[in-house]
Amino acid sequence: MAELPDAVFSSGMMGEGIGIDPTGQTLLAPCRGTVAQLHRAHHALTLRTPEGVSILLHIGVDTVRLQGQGFTALVQEGDLVEPGQPLLGFELDTIARRAKSAVVVVVVAEGGTGFSAPRASGRVRAGRDEIATVGGTSTPESASSPSPAVDSITGRLVRISSPSGLHARPAARLVSEAKRFRSSVVVIKGTAQARATSVTELMGLGLSFGDEIQISAQGTDADLAVTSLSDLVAQGLGEDADHALALPDARRFVSDSDRVLGGVAASPGLMVGEVKLRALTVPKFDLESNTPAAEMDALERALEATQRRLLREHDDYVRRGEIEKAQIFEAHAELLTDATWMSDCVVAIRTGSSAAAAWFGIVSQRADSLASHRTALFRERAEDLMDVGHRVLRALLELPDETFETSKTTVVVSDTLTPSALASLDASRVGAFATAKGGATSHAAILARSMGVPYVAGIGSAIENLVSGMAVIVNGDEGWIRVHPDPSDLADAERAMAERKARMSLAEGLAHDPARTLDGRVIEVAANIGNAKDAELAVKNGCDGVGLLRSEFLFVNRRTEPSEDEQREQFERIGRLLGRERSLVVRTLDVGGDKPLAYMPITSEENPFLGIRGLRLSMRYPEAFAAQIRAALAAARHTKLHIMFPMVGQLDEFLRAKDLVATQMRIAQVENVSLGVMVEVPSAALLADVLAKEVDFFSIGTNDLTQYTLAIDRGHPELAAQADAVDPSVLRLIRMTCQAAHAEGKWVGVCGGLAADPLAAPLLIGLGVDELSVPGPDLPRVKAAVRAVDSNLCRRLAERAVTLTGATAVRSLLKQFAEPQAAGE
Ligand code: PEP
Ligand code: MG
Repeated sequence: MAELPDAVFSSGMMGEGIGIDPTGQTLLAPCRGTVAQLHRAHHALTLRTPEGVSILLHIGVDTVRLQGQGFTALVQEGDLVEPGQPLLGFELDTIARRAKSAVVVVVVAEGGTGFSAPRASGRVRAGRDEIATVGGTSTPESASSPSPAVDSITGRLVRISSPSGLHARPAARLVSEAKRFRSSVVVIKGTAQARATSVTELMGLGLSFGDEIQISAQGTDADLAVTSLSDLVAQGLGEDADHALALPDARRFVSDSDRVLGGVAASPGLMVGEVKLRALTVPKFDLESNTPAAEMDALERALEATQRRLLREHDDYVRRGEIEKAQIFEAHAELLTDATWMSDCVVAIRTGSSAAAAWFGIVSQRADSLASHRTALFRERAEDLMDVGHRVLRALLELPDETFETSKTTVVVSDTLTPSALASLDASRVGAFATAKGGATSHAAILARSMGVPYVAGIGSAIENLVSGMAVIVNGDEGWIRVHPDPSDLADAERAMAERKARMSLAEGLAHDPARTLDGRVIEVAANIGNAKDAELAVKNGCDGVGLLRSEFLFVNRRTEPSEDEQREQFERIGRLLGRERSLVVRTLDVGGDKPLAYMPITSEENPFLGIRGLRLSMRYPEAFAAQIRAALAAARHTKLHIMFPMVGQLDEFLRAKDLVATQMRIAQVENVSLGVMVEVPSAALLADVLAKEVDFFSIGTNDLTQYTLAIDRGHPELAAQADAVDPSVLRLIRMTCQAAHAEGKWVGVCGGLAADPLAAPLLIGLGVDELSVPGPDLPRVKAAVRAVDSNLCRRLAERAVTLTGATAVRSLLKQFAEPQAAGE
């Protein structure tokens, strides 16, 4: 089972068992028993033996999605079956083509003792060979669960949001989480209920997508158990993200040719290269050991050695000035400081597990639970955790590092791309990245963009068409990979690459000049930065200033609050890099919602995006807020300082923050600091005429403005792609903000992702925007886009765009507008 491509089985979370790669198409009963449950999709059933052992028989991995296609039930619930009796029929071909694996899993889900499988590998004959033995417990667990006691706590009604209902995998996730609590927890559906620590009982509730349940708990941590488990269920128990992979996505490149694999454009660029597969393999290890003391020693040594090594790597990157990469390794080292690793592993080791099995099981389990989180930030942490998990495992097994040789034309193809795998590669020796999973907002995508390496993510199972050594064309602008290119494809790609290079070098040559439209309107092109290293790159790429310093990024990997001096040091460093000729717009701390910060106490809220985030959070901690403002004011000695507040929705919020800043400015005797608000809540745009009288400037955060205008969570695994900032509703709010600001003589910037959208510059100029603030590497391109247009034509374009019916219509208008411009170049 350890080799199955599903951590729920391979980590042993479901119980002990064995995996059989079938050559036939009928599942036979492995022992005598009653069919306790038969899944609706007919891909799994549970047998209950007379000794009280529940055995789960599950055909294939991810087969629940086939919804019964290719399966035939040969028995019914309640049937008593004899060993060797046919239970389910299945079409091997359908499963092999459509599921991750066809391996049949036989798991002792409950009530068994002394499991042993004498044949660890090899061939077995159905109905003849013994595959495993297991004893029954003397006190078999009762299938009927205890009623919640009188003083138990019962949570809110939550809907099952895993698309396939509560089948084996989500049930196992719920069980593994429920086991962390000391309280006894039950899941209630109408009059039926099941213990949350029993996979089979949970599956027995037959819960489908959309069903409503309640979680009830009794014990010392009942409250926490009920809230956490209810949240977990509401978030889909890890199934949403998988599901989303299969869904069409508006920004996904949809291919109509076998030779073109469509994915998500995660980092721009075009290249011709050669595929090299990078598989993260799990080394073989013994599952059991009878020397627990030695195992614990070995684990402790491996944890320490890995941590030391990660910190060494962090220091190396700091010395090379690669702060972004350094921070990743620091964060990874911190992951290992958690004392519960050792305590959790000790429990498993004492019961006969080897250190490697204990460690890897627990890491996989925790990573899985993070991977099921609703917000992208947490899901990305799962990748980080597995990354560190593999490192410790290799240290424990005393294996050398896996080496991976690349060249400038290598297209690195893998299932996922972990940040540390990416950071460990030399950008000048990699051609492109392609992954089955992931999207455009992952940590890895951000790093790939900062390295300037094209990246196509989210290719899904079609990635299997890529084999090492194969020639491909990778288009990271549009998100596709062409396999088996013929000479004319290659010639087209080479030509496009040469043109692109020429355009880029022209743009780079002019990067330090102001961006002036054909009719002479100057548009300030500024940079979005998160730290001093970004500021350095931005200056090198010709930024006119910094339009957004995301101050929360300065300390995102810290566990403790930075002191005022540490903050001041960072702001001053950035201010010095920019100098007196450029502006620096510091955004005050923007955490809460989807952006947690380890040292900020943020209470969990039902609707965190509509709760205490951004400025609302800062105002709750006036001392910390004042310290941040004092630290930022120090930068006014070196550069043109602007301060702006995130998530302002009402005038009062701004006025209170303005007061606080005014007090600090008086004390510090600093003058000439401009104060602005981010327009990212629709009410701020609708009240722009009122706000414009009080602020010095506006900066439109189109990422959040789009999310709140369209009521689509920006990190939603299924809907986010629909939240396009060129939706006419968002464009009208941008226009409204510009008109109101200009009437009061104030300026407007756009610092959300739309500013860097390759098609959007003419539209934003036409709507009246004065400044575009974009990621550092995009600066020369955006300046070139400004220079290519006439602002009067842009105005006409914008007037037309706001009258259109939706984002798709706007995008096609923008494409039409861009084509004659490109042709005229
Ligand atoms: C935005 O919301 O558009 C923005 C720039 O802020 P952030 O992406 O940091 O929330
Ligand atoms: Mg925002």
